[in-house]
Amino acid sequence: MTHTTTPTASFTERMAGLDEAAVRRLDRDHVFHSWSAQALIDPLPIARAEGSYFWDHAGKRYLDFSSQLVNINIGYQHPKVVAAIQEQAARLATIQPAFANDARSEAARLIAEVAPEGLDRVFFTNGGAEANENAIRMARLHTGRHKVLATYRSYHGATAGSITLTGDPRRWPSEPGQPGIVHFWGPYTYRSAFHSETEEQERERALAHLRDTLMVEGPHTVAAIILETVVGTNGILVPPEGYLQGVRAICDEFGIMLIADEVMAGFGRCGEWFAVDHWGVVPDLITFAKGVNSGYVPLGGVIISDPIADTFQERAYPGGLTYSGHPLACASAVASITAFHEEGIVDHARRLGADVIGPRLREIAAKHASVGDVRGLGVFWAVELVTNRETRDPLVPFNAAGDAAKPMAAFAAACKERGLWPFTHFNRTHVVPPCTTTAEEAEEGLAILDEALDVADTFT
Ligand code: PLP
Repeated sequence: MTHTTTPTASFTERMAGLDEAAVRRLDRDHVFHSWSAQALIDPLPIARAEGSYFWDHAGKRYLDFSSQLVNINIGYQHPKVVAAIQEQAARLATIQPAFANDARSEAARLIAEVAPEGLDRVFFTNGGAEANENAIRMARLHTGRHKVLATYRSYHGATAGSITLTGDPRRWPSEPGQPGIVHFWGPYTYRSAFHSETEEQERERALAHLRDTLMVEGPHTVAAIILETVVGTNGILVPPEGYLQGVRAICDEFGIMLIADEVMAGFGRCGEWFAVDHWGVVPDLITFAKGVNSGYVPLGGVIISDPIADTFQERAYPGGLTYSGHPLACASAVASITAFHEEGIVDHARRLGADVIGPRLREIAAKHASVGDVRGLGVFWAVELVTNRETRDPLVPFNAAGDAAKPMAAFAAACKERGLWPFTHFNRTHVVPPCTTTAEEAEEGLAILDEALDVADTFT
């Protein structure tokens, strides 16, 4: 069939006909939202965005300290990324994954080029959960073993396997989940599962605990250990120096694959291309999504080490997705990674964290009774709120709902009133702006955060 102009209003006219009230009404009547009791939410309609800001329909501007779901690493509406999507759409909007495609080939090359040495192949997915599903499948098939060890206080996605890997309450409603997945504690010195007082103790005790866990599980049954290199939604937990090297050594000792979930921590977020680069650790598989193209079109994937890729040279890889390596997503990744290189965005993120966000957050922490801990690197920071600095009791209990969650809701509302969109989770606010945020914008947001923390202080 040849396409002709349809008699209906064009897309532009149709969208122009939807005012804020119409968007809200249609949303309420027809959109089913993630992670929410549908009747209890009232999502803010967003009209447009640019750089580090977005605007609602009433024209109110918000500085985005959340990068949405910590994915807009390049900022909103980067012109080169938008242009690449438009050009690709005009030329070839879709092609199934069994064909080769220039945008896909180039995206894979650019990703492999910034990945650690020896990880040269990319399997594309539509997001992070699917990336983790495929990483554990690859590790299981490569090793011929079935168990996977994952950490508590982690999030790996909402598909069947990835939600089982997840080590926080989001897993509970999906239990019993996938067999063969075992959880262990990772390091978190501020709330140590091992009662450590120093980072060194935490490193040693966490590694000893991992080894003990392996011994009771049987190391020869374990295909992979998966961890978030720097834990994201569960608190921006930067591992103590030497921890990741220790996990790598344990994996090598027992022939276990190390999977680094860099869905949130990768592509500049931690001030390196990949967070593992901070510690010089080379995983067997890296999963990515979010920052690879800032979600302009959904994209994720697995970066595969050569020995694992070789497993599937003569033997079929039993997994795939209709939209694996979608040309629009890959075109946006090519443009985004190229812009990262041209504009020095990874270095900018590292310096913004070291020179502006970190020092300023520590000053702010000293002023507020509700701030228990500040930690992070690059543009990946957590401010942990407590009712009492001595006891470290969280400002809201773990997995709080209803009245228990009100202090954080009041803090978030104080930020929003002042034009700052915060990222809050349990008793923490995460400072996770785009990697492209300027020092002035970061200062502007941190000043608002400082004021809003007065509200949190009233609950101490
Ligand atoms: N892994 C990590 C570390 C994440 O933070 C997320 C999402 O927040 C995922 C995996 C899942 O990614 P997606 O929502 O794209 O499936």
